[in-house]
Amino acid sequence: MVPFLLYGGKMIIPRKSALGNRVEIQKPNTETILKVFSRAQGGKYANSMASLLEGSIESFEGEKVSLTHLKQLPLVSAEFIAVEAFKLYGLPTKLEGVYPCPRCDFKIIHEEKDGADNRPDLNDFQVIYDDPEESYESEFFKLSLEEGNEVSIKVKKSKQDEEETEVATLTEYIFSDITLGTMMEIENDTTLKDSSSHLKKAYYMHLVDVNGNTTEDLDLKTLKSRYGYMIMNFPDVSDFFSISEGMRRFGIQPYVPMCCPDCKKEWEQVVDFASFFVYALRSSQSKNTGKSIGTKTRIR
Ligand SMILES: [Zn+2]
Repeated sequence: MVPFLLYGGKMIIPRKSALGNRVEIQKPNTETILKVFSRAQGGKYANSMASLLEGSIESFEGEKVSLTHLKQLPLVSAEFIAVEAFKLYGLPTKLEGVYPCPRCDFKIIHEEKDGADNRPDLNDFQVIYDDPEESYESEFFKLSLEEGNEVSIKVKKSKQDEEETEVATLTEYIFSDITLGTMMEIENDTTLKDSSSHLKKAYYMHLVDVNGNTTEDLDLKTLKSRYGYMIMNFPDVSDFFSISEGMRRFGIQPYVPMCCPDCKKEWEQVVDFASFFVYALRSSQSKNTGKSIGTKTRIR
């Protein structure tokens, strides 16, 4: 782990982007925070994060940045910058939560109550940095499927065909980092119903290469356009989870060690960054008594 790094007043982001990895932030102004509030209340976590970054980033690699640039930031780096901006503004970095024990369903509550506080603090989470000397592409995430778990694409070649023909067997996948822009796009896509379809679309959009056998000469672009989501139909769900972990290998590691007081089961709980973000904003509203920034309708 690299400690918090500073290069001439600039901050190093954990996962570099295609544009570089040095960023300079300033305390966001009230107008920015109000805009972030309003978007977060509408359930748009990535869009509100983009607003926060727009209002907090002074320069990126010494240059002014536009929203187009920000959209190219790896999501894990965007989250890191968002937390740093939270700190500059004095927004809370602790997270309330209720987590059921995976064995006995006992509910563990993280809260501040009667002087006791067991809420995890984002400041305590480990941050993993990539190697700033390596090229951006060298660290793309590779998933090798075990034998027997390969993804096989079978289709009926014509309407008359009774049987499906195998057109490709995929054994290895390479993904680039999920970007802030991708998350914004997914969030704004109302046809995606649940979080698993959100994730699938994100992985699909960031699938940059595949390895395996194809019966014809099919490159990735052709595979994607012809067979769409079939290429992401992993027979083993653990491969799906591996991609999630791979995408989170840099940046804030949102894992909290848990122990059930009832049955003593131990596990690692993943803290959902999206809900943290919304929660932190909400709780900061109630923090300043007499200085409330107002109701939902007044903000809009
Ligand atoms: Zn338990």
